[in-house]
Amino acid sequence: MDIKFTATSFLSINLILFHRAKGENIIKKRREIFHLDAMKIIEDVYMVGSGQIRLSNPMDCHVYLVDYGEGLALIDAGVGLETEFIIENIREEGYEVKDIRYLLLTHCHADHAGGCKRIKELTNCKVVATEFEATLLERGTDEELGLDVAKRSGIYPENYVFPHCRPDRVVRNGEEIELGRYRVKVIEVPGHSKGSACYLFSREGYRILFSSDVVFFDGTIGLGNWSGSSLEDYRRYIHRLSNLAVDALLPGHFLWTLKDGQKHLDKAIENLKLAWVPPAWQHRHPHF
Ligand SMILES: [Zn+2]
Repeated sequence: MDIKFTATSFLSINLILFHRAKGENIIKKRREIFHLDAMKIIEDVYMVGSGQIRLSNPMDCHVYLVDYGEGLALIDAGVGLETEFIIENIREEGYEVKDIRYLLLTHCHADHAGGCKRIKELTNCKVVATEFEATLLERGTDEELGLDVAKRSGIYPENYVFPHCRPDRVVRNGEEIELGRYRVKVIEVPGHSKGSACYLFSREGYRILFSSDVVFFDGTIGLGNWSGSSLEDYRRYIHRLSNLAVDALLPGHFLWTLKDGQKHLDKAIENLKLAWVPPAWQHRHPHF
């Protein structure tokens, strides 16, 4: 029994080491060939994952990192299929993974939340989410997560399984979080999903809005045909994004801007007052 046990353990350890080494080699190779790295956007703020510009897995949303002085906070987690790329990107910027203290989740679609579980395991960070999204993160069905229709639409492979995990802190609309040199305000704007959150970071008068899939560059909105998305909710809650004097608008996909971010939010607000379905993101998901 003992010998068998030892032999099996030895085999397992070797298999783990082999896969780990293989994974590291792939990362190294990709890095050497393509010079992949995180991208510093502005003082304290980095893009550390993005499928669209191939910083990480093609299915990842934009994943941002904020250095708030006393630690690091991630905004969203990516799809969870190659989380090592995101972690490696953070290391490449000279940061230590153990300093990631918070993961501010904007909503529970797989491209944003699928990586929560793995990042939590690797960093021990606290996952923060609004009430509705927190419940989905813990036990949402494929239908509730919008995954069924997303798989049917070819956005995720048929065999993708959402890794559920338990959030550490539930936040409400208007709640403020002190993060070192930043004051962070939670702004919940249902419409793209039932509990979608934007996070407004302020430091010395400069205001950065992580707008997730609620509003994108040029005021397009993230309206979709999945469970939880609602034009009526957009109409009802979009006013929460008015008069915020946002400078940088950093959304979950597509372009971002460092100045006059409020203009893009105002455009969405105005479009939602008109008679037509407002301009929404493209028919195809960005990772195609
Ligand atoms: Zn989404």
